Amino acid sequence: MTDTGHPTLWGMLRGVAAQTCALVAPRHCPCGQEGTWLCQPCTKLLETAPCRVESCCDALQELSAARVRDVELGDLLLPAGVDHTPLLPVLALGEYGGDLQRLILAWKNGGMLHLGARIAPALAPAVARLVEGADPAPPFLVPVPSQRSARLRRGEDHTAELVRAMECSGAGHALLLRARPTTAQEGQGARQRRTRQILLRGRAAREAGRQGAPVVIVDDVVTTGSTLRGMHQALTSAGMRVLGAVVVASARVPAQSAASERTG
Ligand SMILES: [Zn+2]
Repeated sequence: MTDTGHPTLWGMLRGVAAQTCALVAPRHCPCGQEGTWLCQPCTKLLETAPCRVESCCDALQELSAARVRDVELGDLLLPAGVDHTPLLPVLALGEYGGDLQRLILAWKNGGMLHLGARIAPALAPAVARLVEGADPAPPFLVPVPSQRSARLRRGEDHTAELVRAMECSGAGHALLLRARPTTAQEGQGARQRRTRQILLRGRAAREAGRQGAPVVIVDDVVTTGSTLRGMHQALTSAGMRVLGAVVVASARVPAQSAASERTG
């Protein structure tokens, strides 16, 4: 049906619908700015260049093989275990705090799913940086599996939706794997306890593993990196090549990028 025959009626209906929507969901930015879904300063938060944050993620640090023994440096005796190499590169748009935190919370829990369409293209440069020099082909984008309870509570899987939107913006191919996050058992070593065990299942995972597919892990916020570590472990054991991870925000960012964000 077209509205050409009844412009007045349809016009009226549209007006009523728009007013109703405005009453139900007045347009406002997560920062509180009214009259817009995403204000200019908040848009800028997403347009910032991604920064490397893996050095701030405790669960991603590996003890370097070169430093398993004490090292003498002049008068200094450096104890073993001071050198750490991160397991994988992690890129974030900024520190999890202030307006960026409000934006993420509104997107995840506040029913503002439409923000995913704004976040997705902002993450594309981060994916491109991870791919640089690795593969000419676009990588597969793998969202971290959300807990079933969280999915049921929110009614959707926002990270999977984000990855689909990233595919639309040309960052790579969405690879939605069936995965079951499990919590590590009591009595295991410290390393196991700080790693979320993730079990991949299904044909898509087997197929991508068989091809040694290049993948980028996608998540909303990184804190210690234990989930990323679990995903890295699961994807690598399945046979995939993990190029790194891309997140919207990091609980901590290196001092240098925090300073440049404040001044810039
Ligand atoms: Zn705003």
